[in-house]
Amino acid sequence: MKLNNLPEAFTQAAPLLRKIEEAGFEAYFVGGSVRDTILNQPIHDVDIATSAFPAEVKALFPRTIDIGIEHGTVLVLWEQGQYEITTFRTEATYQDFRRPDKVDFVRSLQEDLKRRDFTINALALQKDGQVIDLFDGLADLKNQVLRAVGNPQERFHEDALRMMRGLRFVSQLGFELEERTFLAIQENHPLLAKISVERVMIEFVKMLLGTHRNQALRAFVATECYQYCPGLRPYGEALLRMADLPALPLDKEEAAWLLLIDQLHLSTTAVRPFLKDWKCSNACIRQVQAGYQALQMRKAGDWTDRALYQAGLPTIHLVESVLPFIGQEDRFSVVAARYQALPIHQLQDLAINGRDLLEAIDRPSGPWLKEVLQQLEASVVTGEISNQRDGLLAYAKALLAQSKE
Ligand code: ATP
Ligand code: MG
Repeated sequence: MKLNNLPEAFTQAAPLLRKIEEAGFEAYFVGGSVRDTILNQPIHDVDIATSAFPAEVKALFPRTIDIGIEHGTVLVLWEQGQYEITTFRTEATYQDFRRPDKVDFVRSLQEDLKRRDFTINALALQKDGQVIDLFDGLADLKNQVLRAVGNPQERFHEDALRMMRGLRFVSQLGFELEERTFLAIQENHPLLAKISVERVMIEFVKMLLGTHRNQALRAFVATECYQYCPGLRPYGEALLRMADLPALPLDKEEAAWLLLIDQLHLSTTAVRPFLKDWKCSNACIRQVQAGYQALQMRKAGDWTDRALYQAGLPTIHLVESVLPFIGQEDRFSVVAARYQALPIHQLQDLAINGRDLLEAIDRPSGPWLKEVLQQLEASVVTGEISNQRDGLLAYAKALLAQSKE
């Protein structure tokens, strides 16, 4: 197959391939960008594979950065772009079903393509648009099939992460796992326990965010891979129920986690440990926890002004974005307008501060100060009193007089 009209990302990178070839080596575009171009999908990063060894690549280009030289990858800065150029390699020894502990650089494209995960990811593209297809990846692309390169049993033993990668490609592409590939994943799913949670999490999140999430969730359960993912072992049925939700897009990681934990009916206190086990970032955990609490309330009724104030816009957006999955309308624009119209959005917006209170009220500083400010804040948010200096001071005095009684 020869591709006409290569995307601009390739034509921009073509001079690099030419330069490598002029020096007597081979160089090709490889990986996801080749697959996605043939599928007529937009591409992000362009990866290059070459028979030149890293030192030979570095000698050819003036601006390079060693980003993974032990794996054969050199980053080349070229005009406005940057390109990962990786030497053809085989992964000689695998230990503990993880990434190889050692790579061997080779001069043969075939050897390099052989160690790639799926046939649709084992295509190489020449700068003139010619596709090199040594493992029938083009037929699998056409038939929408995910097939391991070579013997699937061996491939998943070499690197068990490939099983999760397979499931995320099901979700992103809507392809079916070819039968032997599927059976090999099913048989070897316990090997996932050997893979670092961080690597599994990246694929799992991509799976949840993919367009064909429901199809992938069913395969995730059918292959039993879920049993070796953090915190999911008891939840096969819940995951299958989740696979019956509407096939709507999810726009970010936090939304995916929120929907997931809602489907698992986790208790509020279980959310943090669950996400910690998945090694989510603290920022993500905080967002999802806040979202989960607000979601329970929003399911039961509308937002109160107080809940809007406490949640803030990102959490409001997060919560509204998952509602359509559970049969409720996403009312973000209406709710966001209500949020914007709140009299204040943070304590600092209050027309008085602690110093004003100390000056106006004849009392030594103490815990009362924070308590009064919080009461003023709450009363302003709900519209009980307006955010004006004199009124707030009078209200504060009244509160203190009351509490003395
Ligand atoms: P994306 O579009 O999400 O980047 P991708 O296919 O490019 O998808 P990458 O993780 O960027 O995925 O990997 C680039 C290429 O490297 C893959 O297409 C595949 O050929 C190869 N590859 C990546 N991870 C593995 C793995 N664990 N085992 C074998 N080959 C792999
Ligand atoms: Mg990629």
